[in-house]
Amino acid sequence: MRRPEAAGGRRMLNVPASAFPAPGSQQRAARGRRTKVPLKPGRSLMDWIRLTKSGKDLTGLKGRLIEVTEEELAKHNKTDDCWICIRGLVYNVTPYMEYHPGGEDELMKAAGADGTDLFDQVHRWVNYESMLKECLVGRMALKPIVLPKESTSALSEEKKCLNGMLPESKILGTSKTLAPSYDWFQTDCSVTVVVYTKQKDMNSELVILDYEDSRLRGEIIISDYSYLLNIELSNAVQEDIAVHVAEKVGKVEIVLKKKDNIPWKKLGQPLESHNSFIKHTDRGLYYRKCKLISKTEVTHDTKLFCLLLPQSTHFQIPVGQHVYLKQIVTGKEIVKPYTPVSCSLQTHFKEPSCHDGTCLFLMIKIYPSGLFSSELDHLQIGDYIYVSNPEGNFQKSQVQTLEDLFLLAAGTGFTPMVKLLNYVLTDVNSLRTVKLMFFNKTEDDILWRDQLEQLILQDKRFEAQFILSEPSKEWNGKRGKISSSLLSEFFKRSKQDSKVLICICGPAPFTEQGERFLKDLGYCKEEIHSFTA
Ligand code: FAD
Ligand code: NAP
Repeated sequence: MRRPEAAGGRRMLNVPASAFPAPGSQQRAARGRRTKVPLKPGRSLMDWIRLTKSGKDLTGLKGRLIEVTEEELAKHNKTDDCWICIRGLVYNVTPYMEYHPGGEDELMKAAGADGTDLFDQVHRWVNYESMLKECLVGRMALKPIVLPKESTSALSEEKKCLNGMLPESKILGTSKTLAPSYDWFQTDCSVTVVVYTKQKDMNSELVILDYEDSRLRGEIIISDYSYLLNIELSNAVQEDIAVHVAEKVGKVEIVLKKKDNIPWKKLGQPLESHNSFIKHTDRGLYYRKCKLISKTEVTHDTKLFCLLLPQSTHFQIPVGQHVYLKQIVTGKEIVKPYTPVSCSLQTHFKEPSCHDGTCLFLMIKIYPSGLFSSELDHLQIGDYIYVSNPEGNFQKSQVQTLEDLFLLAAGTGFTPMVKLLNYVLTDVNSLRTVKLMFFNKTEDDILWRDQLEQLILQDKRFEAQFILSEPSKEWNGKRGKISSSLLSEFFKRSKQDSKVLICICGPAPFTEQGERFLKDLGYCKEEIHSFTA
């Protein structure tokens, strides 16, 4: 409710109580008429907010939004089944009855009908959109309008395009029933695009959203497929776009804030591949410009680059996935893969908020003769670089019930291990041991050695072994190259037949040798995961 804000304003301005609300204002008019009824215990505003955040299905529609006809609305006119329409949007207020400060009778005045006028008379200033968000059933169906012939075809074209009523996705190579669909609705100040993925295990890592130059691009990954919304919006929106994912019902809501609070006649114009559902691998890479905001030394030749994503971009990097960076080098577009890391190995360490935006951390080795990496090294703070969507074939499910995790890394092949370590040590309850074998040339090449040693002390489950191929005389640790004997010595299961996964990453020949040695040692294909492009 916005009323406390008004009260706060009164205190700050030190206006006498009698001057607020202003004489004749709607708040004042309403005050005289409003009666508050005593609410039962456990039915306060806070209790209501708690209920709306509990994930409970308050509409009874399992997260679907529907078009409501007047006839349908009229059927829901009882205290135990009460729908009300406010400004074209229909809410199931049945669960709210007991929480309504004005009591059931007040709400029932608008049961099964359009309550906009009544609402405006009593409490126009109440932020009902937010209060009743979880009760939203859908919007009122448009009444058929008789149009002259030429505009009828324009309307049907528009409707077919983006008036929301769900044209079938352009589905290639998959069953139609799996295809997501979308709809949109608006309030005075926002437009919400809703995608029904029809997936029960949706999560925010599967949603990638960009808004640039009035173009909204939302990609949703569903197993091996990609669903795309690609729209030139009809009106301007603000940069801060919210994405909500109702994981259990598979609904994705993209909430856009209008710049000018006027009603939109349509969502916009479809752009290339809009509303298509195709194999993920057939979808081209999409890049957005990210700003370099810091560059810090990790070792003599490796740096941690921090890139700031645009405010309107939403994406998270799933564990084990990489992105592609794109630069123009001597007039040519060059693309190379890099694996984002967390900014620290310490599991309790919180990522810094980075100028209120989302940051990507990349640990990159600069090869003096390397085309791409040496160019990256020349980037200045404030320069921009293009970053693609995340890619990769590692699945969290591979480690979710794991007992032993063995990591085999060489040089910058350590990068995918960073987020993986953070994830398993924090979230995998079944985990008994994590062992890292880290191959490098010299001591100076060991990435985040201090952090790894700290982690060994911090977490009993974690062990690491550093093996050097060009050690100094002083090196007391292991030396040599990857071999079957080194692997069998260190990678020992915590118990016979424990559930194990071995992840490998490094130069391609290193990875191939690792796979071969592990198979020779009796590990099966499913127990080995190699990070490759
Ligand atoms: P290039 O111009 O390709 O090579 C020029 C010279 O540089 C070579 O002759 C050689 O002397 C040296 N060189 C280049 N690449 C290698 C190499 N791989 N091994 C040894 N010497 C080399 N790199 C990171 O630093 N951090 C990461 O997080 C990262 N993630 C990756 C993720 C994936 C999925 C893959 C496939 C690779 C990843 N790489 C990572 C490697 C990265 O993509 C580039 O290959 C690397 O930065 C070299 O590119 P370059 O253009 O600078 O060198
Ligand atoms: P490096 O310093 O050259 O080598 C690191 C260690 O690996 C050294 O001990 C080295 O031993 C050993 N090694 C190198 N090549 C080997 C080979 N052919 N056979 C056996 N051992 C070998 O490594 P780097 O420059 O950091 O390169 C890291 C590699 O990882 C790059 O190729 C990069 O593309 C790859 N990478 C892949 C991913 C991914 O997700 N796929 C992510 C990050 C990095 P020697 O001294 O004997 O050579």
